[in-house]
Order: sequence, then structure tokens, then C-alpha cells
Amino acid sequence: MPETHTVPDTGEKKKMKERIPAGKPSFLRVLALLSFLFCSLVSSALLSAPAEHVIMISLDGARPDVILASNMPNTREMSDKGAYTWWAQSISPSSTLPAHSSMLSGSLPEKHGITWNSWKAEGGYVLSTTCFEIAKRAGRSTSMFVGKQKLEHISKPGTVDKFIKLDDIKSVGEYFLQNKPNLLFIHFSSPDEAGHRYGWGSQEQRMELEKCDKNIGLLREYVGKSGASAVTVWIITADHGGHAKSHGSKDVRDMTVPWICYGPGIIRQGQIEKPVSICDTAATSVSLLGLEPDIEWHGKAQLDILMPGQTLQEIIPETGKVK
Ligand SMILES: [Zn+2]
Repeated sequence: MPETHTVPDTGEKKKMKERIPAGKPSFLRVLALLSFLFCSLVSSALLSAPAEHVIMISLDGARPDVILASNMPNTREMSDKGAYTWWAQSISPSSTLPAHSSMLSGSLPEKHGITWNSWKAEGGYVLSTTCFEIAKRAGRSTSMFVGKQKLEHISKPGTVDKFIKLDDIKSVGEYFLQNKPNLLFIHFSSPDEAGHRYGWGSQEQRMELEKCDKNIGLLREYVGKSGASAVTVWIITADHGGHAKSHGSKDVRDMTVPWICYGPGIIRQGQIEKPVSICDTAATSVSLLGLEPDIEWHGKAQLDILMPGQTLQEIIPETGKVK
């Protein structure tokens, strides 16, 4: 069941009691009580989150047209049955570490400060608030399984319960079964590595994407086994695309990435018409958990993708506040 947040006592009940003298006709008191209960129910509903778990998957270097030319049944099913765009935009420079920092801290490099693309022991951590930080502050569990150690620059101390190099997807599945993390990030690095070696769109790169897709399928089975499928939303995206054997420029082939959000009964089916930035990933992920995005983030929550009737539509995207 979606978690429901309690609404703080505003003293409304006390004020209401004061407004109704004991000697007035009882139907007025009943009416007042009913309207109070109705208001409380509406307030609670507006703050409930549609998802208990958000799983973010980054396919490093996965250019949308290369995905579409590959045999990726899981990814295709999730895009067909979810909200998707093949035209989301990365940030400049379209490189792994700055782009993942933007994806997970909702900010452009000028704000998050990670302008380099390798592990730097003296580099410190991303300067802007991360989605993991928002989740941890609210008492949610977080984890990152990464293909490249340099992403540790995003894992600020105390914000990620488990940060580990991705080895085998089964270990992620077992971890999910045992710990049920609320916010889980998984980074597959092999499509990028194949792109640098054999070229973007090469047969070798497509084969790596197909392996990633099989791993997504395995992870879906674990989530199913855990009984959490109905309260789990998946976001599949990429840090950047690429062309020839490289990336990092403002070339449309480097900048364009997929952005898929899948959650049956929660996420609306169809193409997202609005522009999507990878910076929107952080705000969307925390909003799906019923939490307020950081007001300083450049990225905004893509709340239009929620099914009609989902209560988060009542939250104003710009501020994360309830209307
Ligand atoms: Zn690369």
C-alpha cells in the first residue's frame, strides 16, 4: 500500500470546537464534524505517495536510436506501457560523471560543481542536494550499484545506505529482496565501454545493451518475487549518447538520451510531449516517493506522467508544495 503521511495538527480541531457553542442545534455540530473529517481526509490523500520504491537505471552511453535498433524486450515493454521520450536531453559536457551528477542532484554542473570525469580523491562530493539526500532526510532507504567507481563523488557520506560496484544483477536482486530500498540506482557501464571500443551503434554495443536488458528483466523478476511490483516505479535513462567512438560534445547524438518511466496503475502510458532533461530525474524520483524536490534544483518533477487520480498531480511542480 502507498505510504500515507500524517498531516501535522494545525489546531483546526480546537478552533472548530470554540466556534460551536454547546447550546446550538446538534445538526450544526454534526455538519461541522463531517466537514472537518472530510478536510482531513483530503489533506491526507494529497500527501500520499504513489510509489514506495523508485528504481533508477542508467544505461551508460545508450543513445535512443541504438536502443531502438537493439533487441531489448524489457525496455521496449516498459516504454510501451509507461511514459517515455526518446528525446530527453543530457547536460554539457555530455560526460559520465558530470551528467550523472546532474541526473541525481537535479542541477547543472555550474551548481553541482562536478566538472571533471574521473575519480579524484581530493575532489570531494557533489555540491548540490542529491535525491538520495532528500530520501534519507525523510527516513527512506537508498542504494547505488555502479559500474564506475567515480560515481562515488555523488554518494555523500550518510546519504546512501549501500554504495557498491555493480557485479552481478543477482546481487542487486537479492539486496532488493532483503532490504527493499526505497530509492535504488543502478548503473550499467558496458554500453559506453563498447561504444568507445567499437563505435556508437556498432553490433558490439547493441549486444551489450541487450545484456543490460536481460538484467533489467531479471531484476523485474526479483521485484515481482518481493511483492513490491505494484508500488515500484522504474526510471530508465542514460547519462549521454555518443557518436563515432566518443562523446562529450553538444552534438545531438551525444546530448540525446532516453527517459522512460514505468509503473502500471501509477504511470500514464504514452509519449511525453514536454521537454525532458536528465536533471528532471532527481525531482521526479523523490516526488514519486511523496517527498518535496529541492527548490534550488534546475530539474523539475515530470508529474504529468502520473495516471489521472494520482494525488501527486495536486502538488505544484515548481515548489513541490501542495496546492
Ligand atoms: Zn564514455
